[in-house]
Amino acid sequence: MNNINDIKKNIEFYQTRDLVIGSPSNEREDPVNLQFARGWKPPIMKKGSYEVPLFSSVQIQTVEFCNLKCDFCPNHYIIWDRIEMKKKKVPYNKMSFEDYEKIMINLKELGFWGRVSPYLMNEPLMDKERMPRFVEITKKHLPDCNVKINSNGTGLTTKLMGDLIDAGLDAIQVDDYFDDAYATKLIKELEPFSGQNGKCWITLSSNYNTNQVKKNDNSEEGKRPTHYGPHTYWNRGGLVNVNPDMPVPQKNCGYPSSQMYIKWNGDALLCCCDWEYKVVHGNVIETSIEDVWTNDSYKNYRDKLKKGRRDLLRMCRKCNKGCYTSEQQRLENIK
Ligand code: SF4
Ligand code: SF4
Repeated sequence: MNNINDIKKNIEFYQTRDLVIGSPSNEREDPVNLQFARGWKPPIMKKGSYEVPLFSSVQIQTVEFCNLKCDFCPNHYIIWDRIEMKKKKVPYNKMSFEDYEKIMINLKELGFWGRVSPYLMNEPLMDKERMPRFVEITKKHLPDCNVKINSNGTGLTTKLMGDLIDAGLDAIQVDDYFDDAYATKLIKELEPFSGQNGKCWITLSSNYNTNQVKKNDNSEEGKRPTHYGPHTYWNRGGLVNVNPDMPVPQKNCGYPSSQMYIKWNGDALLCCCDWEYKVVHGNVIETSIEDVWTNDSYKNYRDKLKKGRRDLLRMCRKCNKGCYTSEQQRLENIK
């Protein structure tokens, strides 16, 4: 599809809907940023003359696998190698409880109680046996933080949801990438926690028009499936062919300043786009979170992004995130 009318039609056709199934109270809060509503401000980190606020959100990969192949996500081509390894009985890469707890203790020492998401470029419920324990460890050390996960819902049961809530989960967004039948099944599983459940924000986010890519469709760079979606969907640092009508904007991206992305082995990655692990700022288990967060590699990305120089940075130079601020603006720019 490369004709303008088709693109416009597709943007208009694309529908998302967020259904709040459960909430702690009837107060209007933003489940993504509960930490700010609770009054937390990131402390300032210092190294020499360099000062930078600590991130307000951290994602931590507990297992390196997602079971879906959404065409707008780099997992659609990475998954096949991981499935092959699994067939050969090679276990998925995982973070240990010990390493995870070390990170939580480090965060506590830094005065962090922002958002903690125990997943990164993976499906958190692929680690469903361990996930309640990860939530529990988080709350043990950071009782006031906001523990939030996003899940594609496969593997979610009433029992598991109850275990996660009992462990201290603050919010879950279940992304339904299929159809109404799938959404109905999820609503049934979540029904016991609907309404003012006193504990957890539960949102069902339905995203239609998502294709699951077959192995035979997997192809080399440049031939990856084209996905046209809302302006908020981007090409993940150029790794996927998403919204090619949107150019790379030479402007800031706040991710390296506001969030930390930790791989299963402790590597701090550029952002949640970096599925091929191209930009590693350092390792927080071998050193410390503060050492890595204030290092020259992070500083370089922040400084150049603030000047709008994506062209000078690996990954960012191909990334069309934040190209337009609204669908309307995008439509006006399609010539
Ligand atoms: S978008 Fe989410 S559910 Fe889909 S393949 Fe990527 S990680 Fe998996
Ligand atoms: S601009 Fe860079 S840091 Fe921001 S999302 Fe794209 S690749 Fe990641």
